[in-house]
Amino acid sequence: MNTYPPQPVTFVRGEGTLLWDEAGRRYLDFFSGVAVTSLGHAHPAVTDAVAKQARTLLHVSNHFATTVAPGVAATLDRLIRGGSGGPGPAGAKGRVFFCNSGAEANECAIKLARKRGGPDRHVVVSAYGSFHGRTLATLHATGQPAKHKAFQPLPEGFRHAAWCDVAAFDAAVDDSVAAVLLEPVLGEGGVHPATPEFFAAVGKICDDRGALLMIDEIQTGLGRTGRWFGFQHFGIEPDVVTMAKALGNGVPIGACWARDEVAATFAVGDHATTFGGQPFATSAARAVLAAMEEADVPSRAVTAGGRLAAGLASLSGVHSVRGLGLLLAAELAPPLQAKKVAAWALDGGLVVNPVTDSALRLAPPLLVSDAEIDEGLALLRRALERGMLDP
Ligand code: PLP
Repeated sequence: MNTYPPQPVTFVRGEGTLLWDEAGRRYLDFFSGVAVTSLGHAHPAVTDAVAKQARTLLHVSNHFATTVAPGVAATLDRLIRGGSGGPGPAGAKGRVFFCNSGAEANECAIKLARKRGGPDRHVVVSAYGSFHGRTLATLHATGQPAKHKAFQPLPEGFRHAAWCDVAAFDAAVDDSVAAVLLEPVLGEGGVHPATPEFFAAVGKICDDRGALLMIDEIQTGLGRTGRWFGFQHFGIEPDVVTMAKALGNGVPIGACWARDEVAATFAVGDHATTFGGQPFATSAARAVLAAMEEADVPSRAVTAGGRLAAGLASLSGVHSVRGLGLLLAAELAPPLQAKKVAAWALDGGLVVNPVTDSALRLAPPLLVSDAEIDEGLALLRRALERGMLDP
């Protein structure tokens, strides 16, 4: 259907940070399929795992158990609760529901919050500028009214408050609120990290008023920001954490983690999915998590992110750089337009994303090498020079 703009390039192969198009032209991928291929394209451990699983058992449905999903759930629980990645809700053991996408992970979170709160306490508060998905409920949780317009009436029970504005969240969270849903960094909204003060204050508001604190880690999770999960920068203890994207390194899988006591809200039959948790997708996730732990990807995101951010800040045409780890945005100096610069970059062999009219989003694989970062920066310098000649 006509849901995407015309696509300028057709990619046919990838390896690590590299992509090749139909004509055999090589590109550096600093977008990772919207922060999905965090281990790079065709990562050997993931490729081997899914090939082996495809020969063994792809799917049996949730009418039966498998040996793969429970191990993945246990690893996610450990990483969310601190793992090797830093502070987290250490005491709060949790449980996981597997699904197939980010929006589905958030749907699961919203259903948990609604069932737990009951009809009188069903509202979910999220931030203006946020992005939580495209299903009707997650679209309404998404704090971008322009995206709502064509689909009214949307499911009711969603409210928005200004990003990083404690007073606005204080006013929004009343007795009707079941949960607050927040990204640690507004991803689609332009790569704006939260402040520790904001997360701490919202955490306290939720605690005091009995609302759940639900963190959308779909773009930020699994090492991207320099911690296993973005919330771990802010020292808060979430009740629910959703993730997807990097969990399968390209194999569709989502997951919703909740503290034991919150997860217990669901009884048998309250929620389900045909594909979620199947051996194929969870075998990819198992291999992804093992490779990520072995490479200590959060540390790599810190060092590679530091190098990339410093390089971006030194480019003429870049006004400022923001983000965490390897989820970065370069705000361009006027009159440069992000779409045009991204198009010049692609033409020169570098994939970046114009996340707003004036900012480029960069999210290379977490295993990106220093040499690739330097090459990417050189390609971007050329694109900015072309952009300045034709703004
Ligand atoms: N939440 C966040 C923070 C996202 O960045 C996205 C996708 O970009 C989603 C939810 C939706 O995920 P999906 O497209 O897998 O449904």
